[in-house]
Amino acid sequence: MATVAKRGNITVHTENIFPIIKKSIYSDHEIFLRELISNGIDAIAKLKMATYSSGQTFDPSTAAIDIAIDKDKKQLSITDNGIGMTAEEVEKYINQVAFSSAEEFVEKFKEADETIIGNFGLGFYSSFMVANAVEIQTLSYQDGAQAVHWKCDGSTEFELSDSERAERGTTITLTLMEEEEEYLEEARIRSIVKKYCDFMPHPINLNGERINQEKALWKQNPKDLTKDDYLEFYRYLHPFQDEPLLWVHLNTDYPFVVNGILYFPKLKPDVDVTKGQIKLFCNQVFVSDNCEEVIPQFLTPLRGVIDSTDIPLNVSRSYLQGDRTVRRIADYIAKKVAGELKGLYRSDLPEYIRCWQDLGTFVKFGSLNDDKFKKQVEEILIYRTTAELSTEKADETVAVEVQTEEGDAWEGTEETQEPRDENGFYYTTLKDYLERNKERHENRVFYCTDPASQATYVELHKSQGLEVLFLDSFIDTHFVGFLEREFTDVKFARVDAEIDDALLDKDKKETEIVDPATNKTRSDQIKELFEGALGNDRVNVKVEALKGEDPANTPPAMVLLPEAMRRIQDMTAMFANTLAAFPNDHILLVNSSHPLIENLLSMNQGAIAVEGGESPSATLSKALCNHVYDLALMAQKGFDADGMKSFVGRSNQVLTQLTKR
Ligand code: ADP
Ligand code: MG
Repeated sequence: MATVAKRGNITVHTENIFPIIKKSIYSDHEIFLRELISNGIDAIAKLKMATYSSGQTFDPSTAAIDIAIDKDKKQLSITDNGIGMTAEEVEKYINQVAFSSAEEFVEKFKEADETIIGNFGLGFYSSFMVANAVEIQTLSYQDGAQAVHWKCDGSTEFELSDSERAERGTTITLTLMEEEEEYLEEARIRSIVKKYCDFMPHPINLNGERINQEKALWKQNPKDLTKDDYLEFYRYLHPFQDEPLLWVHLNTDYPFVVNGILYFPKLKPDVDVTKGQIKLFCNQVFVSDNCEEVIPQFLTPLRGVIDSTDIPLNVSRSYLQGDRTVRRIADYIAKKVAGELKGLYRSDLPEYIRCWQDLGTFVKFGSLNDDKFKKQVEEILIYRTTAELSTEKADETVAVEVQTEEGDAWEGTEETQEPRDENGFYYTTLKDYLERNKERHENRVFYCTDPASQATYVELHKSQGLEVLFLDSFIDTHFVGFLEREFTDVKFARVDAEIDDALLDKDKKETEIVDPATNKTRSDQIKELFEGALGNDRVNVKVEALKGEDPANTPPAMVLLPEAMRRIQDMTAMFANTLAAFPNDHILLVNSSHPLIENLLSMNQGAIAVEGGESPSATLSKALCNHVYDLALMAQKGFDADGMKSFVGRSNQVLTQLTKR
């Protein structure tokens, strides 16, 4: 080796920072490899630029990083065939600049107790976290350059001398500390490269074999990519997962640089939607497994990749949330997502509806949380409806091509688009609902939160031609409140809350006094009968005649839960984190036009009192009143153990009575 041409001291402004580097600001020593590889990749990029402007030839396909392990010498080396450095450049970039920036970095963060998002910035000097001695052999691309050898053993002293190196580029050789010998294991190196450097733009070889795999799909032009490219990339990032519903390709250079691909996954109950799964990259270098701070909270369940050089990385996560650029990036992402959804809504409504089960939750959550997003998606919020919507109406919403601000275009289909899902259910926007029903019930929306337990009520509305919307996902409890705040003129009534006038047969309303002695109408008598039979003053009995072509097909009785009361109950349950108990106070609406009720009344009235108690038919009619109530209750909530026992017991008694001859 050549004689040492120069000895000197690395410029240090404070105390020697090596002990601090060694103690490590990073718990992850492994990032030294990421730093050295990215320096090699940078060197290749610089060579590309330099030869481009000087007219020299350089074939980028020959560019590569080579990692070699020498177990005997306990050495790890990283070689690139990039731009290389002259002695002056080593002085300037390694001895002075790099060191002072590392120093600054250490100063800034040695007190920090919060985790730092990217652990970037220590750069070249992070090699001293794992190495006793670091050497550089480098040859600049410049014509007639002299190769250089630099060596530092972890003190503030360095040596600089000429080198025999003949190939352009740089080799960094680390002699590892005893406790860091894990970095002599091939498998360890492979896994670090896979984690941080998988998407770097040039081959990274270990002992001659390429160990980074993938193209950074997000850096490519969306126009050059097929559906399969996106799906394949998703499978690579998230193996063993269902296919995503759709995706958004982010690429903007101004006013900040953001590239990325975000996928909407199918929401599964076992997926923790509060935990982000978007990988953050900086110039194709992996930074972090989640970037919850960078994307709007409501988009946390999205997956994929975001790559930006404009996200400050050497800051704490809490700082990041307050950063202005980061907030603007978050807005941009939300806007792109909204744009993609709008595009799908307009170009392929059936597909949009197919995805709505999963998308709806995002969109609603986003609307609840983000005002700007709300405005962007308000026209594409849809609800399943009981109405059967004609295709002509849907035709009006078909757009042939949609142009967004970003200039992306969606090909529209000109086929008829039925707004229905694969089960044949139709979907509508709230605006269309209100418009359609303006004449029958202006500014009133009937909704259902549980198709199973509210089936009777939905049926009743449907049979009267009243349209019901389904607000039955877990987020809808909040969403109804939100809709009411948004549409202050509109009243939302759950189908089982109260019986709308439209459902009542006002002509049949009994006002006629049937018993002059007591001044009572038939309704009064029915009410009395049920109240007496139930003997429960928390159940408020109301008698109404329900409309229906065949009264026998209307329900004989229904349990109603007044809207305001039920909401208080829901809220209490929500705070207590339990399911809402069925309210003890409720209304039993008895349908006076149903033949069963008529029969019950006459059965009771025809009963002749026997000596010392009720007649058997009076007893039976009371038992049947309870039965009618139970059936109405059952439609709503099912029974608890006691309720079930008494229901079965009474059923058997009643059946015995009825079969008596
Ligand atoms: P940064 O990469 O952020 O500039 P580093 O500490 O990682 O900081 O590197 C400092 C400087 O040393 C680089 O900017 C570059 O000029 C030089 N350098 C480091 N590694 C190489 C390399 N492999 N080839 C050429 N120059 C390098
Ligand atoms: Mg660097």
